[in-house]
Amino acid sequence: MVTRFDAHRLATIVGDQHVLTDADVMARYLVDWTGRRMGRADAIVRTRSTDEVSAVLSACAATGTAVVAQGGNTGLVGGSVPDDRVASNRAASTIVLSTERMTDIDTVDPVEMCVGVQAGATIAAIEAAAAAADLHFAIDLASRDSATAGGIVATNAGGVHVVRHGGTRAQVLGMEAVLADGRVIRRWNPLRKDNVGYDLPGLIAGSEGTLAVITGVLFTLVDPPGPTAVALIGVENADQIFVLVSKVRRAGLTVEAVELMTRAGVGLVVEAGARPALTGASAFQVLLEASGAQATERLAEVLNDAGVEDAVLDEGPAHALWELRERHTETIARASTTVPVKLDVTIRRRDLGQFIEDLDAVAAAVSFGCRPVVFGHAADGNLHVNLLDVPLPEQAALARRVLEMVIARGGSVSAEHGIGRDKRDWLAVARGDADVAVMRAIKNAVDPDNRLNPGAIFP
Ligand SMILES: Cc1cc2nc3c(=O)[nH]c(=O)nc-3n(C[C@H](O)[C@H](O)[C@H](O)COP(=O)(O)OP(=O)(O)OC[C@H]3O[C@@H](n4cnc5c(N)ncnc54)[C@H](O)[C@@H]3O)c2cc1C
Repeated sequence: MVTRFDAHRLATIVGDQHVLTDADVMARYLVDWTGRRMGRADAIVRTRSTDEVSAVLSACAATGTAVVAQGGNTGLVGGSVPDDRVASNRAASTIVLSTERMTDIDTVDPVEMCVGVQAGATIAAIEAAAAAADLHFAIDLASRDSATAGGIVATNAGGVHVVRHGGTRAQVLGMEAVLADGRVIRRWNPLRKDNVGYDLPGLIAGSEGTLAVITGVLFTLVDPPGPTAVALIGVENADQIFVLVSKVRRAGLTVEAVELMTRAGVGLVVEAGARPALTGASAFQVLLEASGAQATERLAEVLNDAGVEDAVLDEGPAHALWELRERHTETIARASTTVPVKLDVTIRRRDLGQFIEDLDAVAAAVSFGCRPVVFGHAADGNLHVNLLDVPLPEQAALARRVLEMVIARGGSVSAEHGIGRDKRDWLAVARGDADVAVMRAIKNAVDPDNRLNPGAIFP
């Protein structure tokens, strides 16, 4: 028989002041970053340690309480707040387990080149610790001040340096995570090679809080990039980007980031106060960061030799140029008259230009008016599609139309943000029957009562 969750027992584990039940205090944990997803929960429980998370999950197992892990709440697919529909259909209760108090960062190990962090440590804090030891954390997102270790691992976040270092999963050397029944999995060893059985940290990475609550991560660190140069380049044709990137590599430079923006997106950001950098009106603006000795001079040579006319170049960190790219997400959120439709997709690189043209045509053809703004991590073929001003009743159909276009082109309906609640109906479209059956079997094996983030990933 299901009983109600035991607030008193939870309070004895984490302390009274860390079991929040007041509606006003809970509100900010129950709405996602986009403002689109609002959920319900019986309490927000703010744990401080792995032991507390383990005890909380055991207590929740005893009462059949669902647990939604939440880090910085910057996720963009509705995975970090409880599902209102699922919550209301459940006989039992739901808590949000917030890791915001779990911010410890161990001393950086300069020999093993790694750092152990608690799940709630932010990307910015991890990078600050790495930089203080003359090392560098490979993951960087515009949400760096809020997004947490647990969140980026749970979503297998990408960001701007995937082209150089790979995504978050590739940075995970070890992990501590708590299963639905409170048992703790701990693999915490900086060994670079350790092929003993299944790669459980690799599986939990990208599982969006549905398999375990991550409490700590042992991240690999990398050497800092050295002198960098940043070019903002106007191009008419998306294919030109990849030719240029190849030339930059052949010139002996290391490509650190390749970000794509469109005329429409840069226009919005400039209207919002950012300084324009290019004089031309090219269809695309590409921000290319490269590193190496005399990076600025050598990058300038490559652009000259390639006959690029519409470009500006700056020594790294080139904040003013990066600002044009980094302000996109927030500016778009503010510029749209309705909550924008946001879709994070991957398109084969050769199809990028045509896909953007098709998208513009779809937006132009709708009767209600819609401004498409696309930007993203070009080197990975990863586009963030934003459709502004779309009336709420039209949003689902338009999103479906775009995702169908992605699938028709052999792309992916989720590049780096995950499935969350927004895209769960696409799981079976994007993956085969056997594939989905194995995912469900794994979920059932570790969380048979479906209490960890119910409603995320699986429809
Ligand atoms: C301005 C902006 C820019 C962004 N840029 C990028 C980008 O370039 N690349 C990219 O990939 N994403 C980007 N994002 C999306 C977002 O920042 C990432 O998805 C990030 O990984 C979420 O981290 P978080 O700590 O905020 O997680 P949350 O939003 O709190 O949670 C996200 C998911 O992870 C789960 N989760 C969180 N913590 C844990 C834990 N400890 N254990 C188990 N599960 C957990 C949640 O249940 C949820 O399913 C951006 C977002 C914003 C607002």
